[in-house]
Amino acid sequence: MPELPEVEVVRRGLERWVAGRAVATVEVHHPRAVRRHLEGTDHFVAALTGRTLTAAHRRGKYLWLPLAEPDGTPAGQALVGHLGMSGQLLVEKPAKPDETHLRARVTFTDGGRELRFVDQRTFGGLAVEEADGDDIPPRLAHIAIDPLDGSFDADAFSAALRRRRTEVKRALLDQTLIGGVGNIYADESLWRARLHGTRPTDRLTRAQVADLLEGVRDVLTESLEQGGTSFDSLYVDVNGRSGYFSRHLAVYGQVDRPCPRCGTPIVRESFMNRSSYSCPRCQPSPRTRRTSAEPRARRS
Ligand SMILES: [Zn+2]
Repeated sequence: MPELPEVEVVRRGLERWVAGRAVATVEVHHPRAVRRHLEGTDHFVAALTGRTLTAAHRRGKYLWLPLAEPDGTPAGQALVGHLGMSGQLLVEKPAKPDETHLRARVTFTDGGRELRFVDQRTFGGLAVEEADGDDIPPRLAHIAIDPLDGSFDADAFSAALRRRRTEVKRALLDQTLIGGVGNIYADESLWRARLHGTRPTDRLTRAQVADLLEGVRDVLTESLEQGGTSFDSLYVDVNGRSGYFSRHLAVYGQVDRPCPRCGTPIVRESFMNRSSYSCPRCQPSPRTRRTSAEPRARRS
């Protein structure tokens, strides 16, 4: 599943290869790929054709590309995309054979490389939505700004996290609190901060929250520099290259391998119907701490 750094890699690819080009034709090969365009497939095609994709922006895992009319005036709309579980946005030469799971194709008036939306499981999708200039489309505005965004407010995040009465991993995965942190980066960040995912947020110290945020930033930034993470063969960047950050994971998917910090075998636990990976020594669970170190009566 593409996570935030992968989507940022795709955004940069779109900015480089697609921004500034005028759409010649649009083909939709599967109606599910445009199901969020409520007016239907024909309307989607008409809304894109003849317009220019002026830039590529991102909020969380959503991408949006503002549209301009042929005379250059803003169209008041943007192409919005989400990669879902398995989506890819590929920039390909027109002669390249179609991918098996090609869902939509956009060609450009310059006759150069075309944009293809490929999605095996079709949880992702494209839509044209209202958007004012480069502003975020209203449907996406509730998504929290992520730590890779220059306007991310670390103090506000820390205060909001410590006000929550929840488990810290649940908070990291809450897209209204912090954008774009999925299961893999949550586990890696928690390991860096030496926190078990079920630790209660309202009991974290300021220093622990600061360590956690630093962990999130570092793991996202390192992944971005390396071109995104490839956990299944489905993710490739906008030009079809796989990321390779997976080689550098400390805990995610590393069950029974030694913790890179202390050598203790990494364990896998079930959390929110998914797997969580942690070092039982560096990241003791609150349950372990309670039975071994803290009297139960102190916990409500
Ligand atoms: Zn360890």
